[in-house]
Amino acid sequence: MLKIENLNVRYDGAHALKGINIEVPRGSVVALIGANGAGKTSTLRSICGLVKNVSGKIIFEGQDITGLKAYDRVKLGIAMVPEGRRIFTNLTVFENLLMGAYTRTDKEKILEDIEKVYRLFPRLKERKSQKAVTLSGGEQQMLAVGRALMSSPKLLLLDEPSLGLAPNLVREMYRTFAEIHQNEGLTILLVEQNARMALELADYGYVLEVGHIVLEGPSQELAQNEGVKKAYIGG
Ligand code: ATP
Repeated sequence: MLKIENLNVRYDGAHALKGINIEVPRGSVVALIGANGAGKTSTLRSICGLVKNVSGKIIFEGQDITGLKAYDRVKLGIAMVPEGRRIFTNLTVFENLLMGAYTRTDKEKILEDIEKVYRLFPRLKERKSQKAVTLSGGEQQMLAVGRALMSSPKLLLLDEPSLGLAPNLVREMYRTFAEIHQNEGLTILLVEQNARMALELADYGYVLEVGHIVLEGPSQELAQNEGVKKAYIGG
């Protein structure tokens, strides 16, 4: 579904990605593991069209989208849940979800899909008229995921979805990802610093270190790798 070939990202003074190759097959969950500053967010932002200085190729469903605008990539079916959630804090839960559907033209299905998000996250339904700023961190993360789902994506990009959440909430969030993946057949590319949950959910994983992919393989193998255990799983 997604193929990244020789991707390079440069910022003023920083060569953040140095020729990485990643493949995300349709219907799979792929994890991208790496420490702070490894280039994980830059990878996801490049796929969404949010980074300027990019070279290499990004192929989505056989189409070269490297030069395409972010809005058009959302329309093709790419959605991201950004790190730090970035929800619209002054809008209500319902309005945030509606904003997620901004590229869609099938207006009659949008309300149906909002109900689907409420079934996935009943807490959002209870708080639908509440301003997003009043939600807890975990609820804001649910809203960020719900909003991404509202664009009807084929590929969901998740940037450190466990960041700042209590362990039980992280498990709940990951159970929901597994449910979306199984029920909706959604393909997921997931970025995490903490590899344990990510590798449990994923079929395949890549390890990114200062702009290079240094290791890749089936996630069960990566989870057993001593270097990965030491650096990204702990214990
Ligand atoms: P983290 O886990 O801390 O979010 P990351 O793996 O997602 O890290 P990136 O955010 O992709 O890493 O950053 C990769 C490198 O690019 C870092 O050295 C970072 O300082 C640099 N970088 C990222 N964004 C910019 C920017 N807008 N301008 C300049 N340098 C940047």
